Amino acid sequence: MVRPRPILVALAALLVVGVAALGLERFPPPEFETDYVRPTTTAPNPPQGVWEYVDAGVLAVTLVLATVLVLRTRNRKLIFTLMLFCLAYFGFFRDGCVCPIGAIQNVTLTAFDPGYAIPLAVLIFFALPLVFTLFFGRVFCGAVCPLGAIQDAVLIHPVRVPRWLESGLRLIAYLYLGAGVLFAAMGAMFIICRYDPFVGFFRLSGNWEILVFGGCLLLIGMFVGRPYCRFLCPYGVILRQLSRLSRWRVTITPTDCIQCRLCEDACPFGAIRKPTEPWPDKEYKVARRRLAFLLVLLPVLIGAGGWGGYELRQWLALVHPEVRLAQRIYLEENALVEGTTDASDAFRALGRSSDELYAAATQLRDRFGLGGTLLGAFVGCVIGGKLLTLSVKRRRADYEPDPASCLACGRCYAYCPKEHERLKRGREGLIRH
Ligand code: SF4
Ligand code: SF4
Repeated sequence: MVRPRPILVALAALLVVGVAALGLERFPPPEFETDYVRPTTTAPNPPQGVWEYVDAGVLAVTLVLATVLVLRTRNRKLIFTLMLFCLAYFGFFRDGCVCPIGAIQNVTLTAFDPGYAIPLAVLIFFALPLVFTLFFGRVFCGAVCPLGAIQDAVLIHPVRVPRWLESGLRLIAYLYLGAGVLFAAMGAMFIICRYDPFVGFFRLSGNWEILVFGGCLLLIGMFVGRPYCRFLCPYGVILRQLSRLSRWRVTITPTDCIQCRLCEDACPFGAIRKPTEPWPDKEYKVARRRLAFLLVLLPVLIGAGGWGGYELRQWLALVHPEVRLAQRIYLEENALVEGTTDASDAFRALGRSSDELYAAATQLRDRFGLGGTLLGAFVGCVIGGKLLTLSVKRRRADYEPDPASCLACGRCYAYCPKEHERLKRGREGLIRH
């Protein structure tokens, strides 16, 4: 007959001895301490393992919820609650990474560097908000993006930004997108991640300059609704264009607009457009001439931008670490600077020849010549396109959110009397059933 008590006692004793043995140091650990101070990273760590897929799943679910809340339920409180959840999850819990905004660079690098394989989760993060925007407008911005959420949460007293200023400042986002794509394509730097203004808050650490930048944006964001989204976000640039094509999107009134004007000042992002007045005949003639002039100007702006970008190639190339290293080695070899740097010491320790380095840097500068030309042409095209869109007057019969600028926050719904009728009908229906 088996007697369990002694066996259990023996097992427990073995366990205690085993655990104690694990805790013993068999000999003193070696001293590896040096003066080297490990630098703190400024970009969040990439997600690993199963978390990538959990994040992608949470993104998909929250996008579906955001779509339902923005387009069907039309309830600002619920949208705000979802937004806070996404801020807590994607921002503070997951350290703001993966983020679709930074994923632009991963996608670009995949296209230009055959040796780089984009993780599936990053691809999902990049593509899913775009697909939702294409069908339902900017529901991602309204309730899911943690960068949008942190700004939305601090908005206390929105002031109106004049349209001309808003249009001008928005050009920065296009330039930022172009630069982010160029530097990622060249393998120089992921500037969008490096200068992410809020990731330091999410991680409760980071480079102090970026923290100050993010702090200033939040301070401004208390009075100017979502300044990063409106004037800086490179992903927002893509979302703007896609949301113009969206089949279903935010409409202020659930039925016909009765032009009561109650919603006119409701939007903190200046996204509500008034009905247009018919143009007098003589203005049409002036507008036609202006349009013809701008159409001629467009290729000139593209050409001038391309030329300017090409001229800046030396400066742009300096963003690449290899070009900077070649410059440093040249200065050291010709005694134009004193001392060495960590990078130049490491270069010499590797035994690579300076000629090889100079040749690689020259090749990179040539590539930056082409890249700079394309970036400049893109900026010229954006400026020309902006002037063209400003000169074209669209007919609008009702108060409508501009599909590109509307961030799907749901604030304007509560201002519409037709929306109140809809809610009342809903409540009555519930009571009857
Ligand atoms: S505009 Fe950019 S930062 Fe703002 S909510 Fe949209 S994706 Fe996020
Ligand atoms: S949902 Fe309404 S309030 Fe919000 S951004 Fe769009 S138009 Fe403005």
